[in-house]
Amino acid sequence: MKKTLSLIAAATFAIAGVTGEAHHAEHPHWGYNGAGAPDHWGDIDPKFRMCKLGVNQSPVDLNRFIDAKLPKLKIYYAGIAFDVINNGHTIKVNTQGRNEVIVDGKKFSLVQFHFHTPSENKINSKQFPMEAHFVHKSDDGEYLVIALMFEKGEENKALQKMLNDVSAKVGESKKLHEMFNPGELFPRKLDYYRFEGSFTTPPCTEGVRWIVLKNPVTASKEQIEKMHKVMGNNNRPVQPLKARVILR
Ligand SMILES: [Zn+2]
Repeated sequence: MKKTLSLIAAATFAIAGVTGEAHHAEHPHWGYNGAGAPDHWGDIDPKFRMCKLGVNQSPVDLNRFIDAKLPKLKIYYAGIAFDVINNGHTIKVNTQGRNEVIVDGKKFSLVQFHFHTPSENKINSKQFPMEAHFVHKSDDGEYLVIALMFEKGEENKALQKMLNDVSAKVGESKKLHEMFNPGELFPRKLDYYRFEGSFTTPPCTEGVRWIVLKNPVTASKEQIEKMHKVMGNNNRPVQPLKARVILR
């Protein structure tokens, strides 16, 4: 199968100290149920105030489109998915090596990717059973997230490589037995929607570039059920678009 994304064969560039903890920082008792549920995030900690005061929050229901001639998305992933951790909020895979995407003439490096069941973003009100977020950061500290939807279908071979090492135990990190190029998860066609948003977890920081891939990939019913069993429902409800539009 010919991929449109450029995958440079297994070059190994050691990038140390990049962990992406800003996306899922350590703070008391936020979650998806009860007192720590999304409705309360903004009151749990002053640092989380954007969760209730923000005006460009994520996720969203993508439904107010503007036709734009978006440039072709060029993903240059040459590194590897290295280890997997169940941090109690999500299943997160840390990456190593040179995994880059250029957007707005700016280079963003992949830090980690993680999952939500069911999907957080919706497309024309349609929710998917699972969504992955590929979190990228630029050298000057700006964030870009590429979102990928999963639908039920054929087994996903790349997903299985990490799923083999997913632990139900919170806080347990495991080095992957079968490391793989994170680009193996992407669909063949990289058409996308583009808009501005935030982290979908506290501190709900805004100014995040969002790219949602139009084409979902498949995962088997069993794979999605296993992910859901470990994470539970870890989707923040959709937030108002307010003044935003979605480029397509
Ligand atoms: Zn996420």
